[in-house]
Amino acid sequence: MRPSDFVGNTPFLQISNRIFAKFETYSPSGSVKDRLAKYILDDAERRCLLKPGDMLVEATSGNTGIAFALLAAERGYRIKIIMPSNMSNERKHMLRMLGAELIEVGEGDFDEAIALRDKLASENDWFNTNQFHNPLNIECHFNTTGFEILGHLIAMKQTPAAFVSGTGTGGTIMGVAKRLRGIYPDVKIIAVEPAESPVMSGGEPGLHGIQGIGDGSKFLVDLNQIDEVITVPTEIAKQRTRELIKENGMLVGISSGANVYAAEQWEARNHSKGVIITMLCDRGERYLSCI
Ligand code: PMP
Repeated sequence: MRPSDFVGNTPFLQISNRIFAKFETYSPSGSVKDRLAKYILDDAERRCLLKPGDMLVEATSGNTGIAFALLAAERGYRIKIIMPSNMSNERKHMLRMLGAELIEVGEGDFDEAIALRDKLASENDWFNTNQFHNPLNIECHFNTTGFEILGHLIAMKQTPAAFVSGTGTGGTIMGVAKRLRGIYPDVKIIAVEPAESPVMSGGEPGLHGIQGIGDGSKFLVDLNQIDEVITVPTEIAKQRTRELIKENGMLVGISSGANVYAAEQWEARNHSKGVIITMLCDRGERYLSCI
């Protein structure tokens, strides 16, 4: 066995009477992004696009980079990560420890990070994992996260009222939405974004502290598939995260607090039958300096 054999099949935790969440901290690198990294590398290896020693390159707020860096270490690839400079120091330390080479660009500037990644990939013939535009990202969550959630629902004999999820690339929400709607066409799909960067709500991108979501564009999100967008201010997301840690023993990161808060808001306003499902996306340790 190797670490990537333990990606996915995460626990399904009960947060309140009707709210349940996938506990992604159980994954080898501690976030939902292990799913995507494994899916993309497995696909590339099956198609013989990679050989040991090859360079991977990605633009990331951190978790995707950490996930790819762990898999690169496991499988003998090199990896170059381009990230906005305002991401937490814990993330940068983890990336360097896993052997990634870091290039930092301007605060919150994902467009610059993506443009530099594409330029470096084409100039050097590096393998561009392309998370923000890769259709495999949605396919991954359709086949893994969404499939697992269906299994939990069937085991619990429950139907889903809503799936509530913050969006970074949008891979999680689009893949899970496609899977759940195939069986439960009435399930509501609720996107979560930072109040300081309300792009899907029609506002302007801005700096915020909910690392991992609200990266400045909607990327893979098809707003036609989204029933509602809930905005959460950074300070409220942090407060809800601290409560999850102290009151529930769920040592999770800030986007998890945003997700749970949004799920609670949705529940308070809607009285439809069924459970509300959300994501606990990553571990809290990588935010000690900023929460
Ligand atoms: N929360 C955190 C902490 C993340 O790192 C990510 C991924 N960027 C997300 C939520 C959102 O996931 P997705 O990219 O699938 O929309």
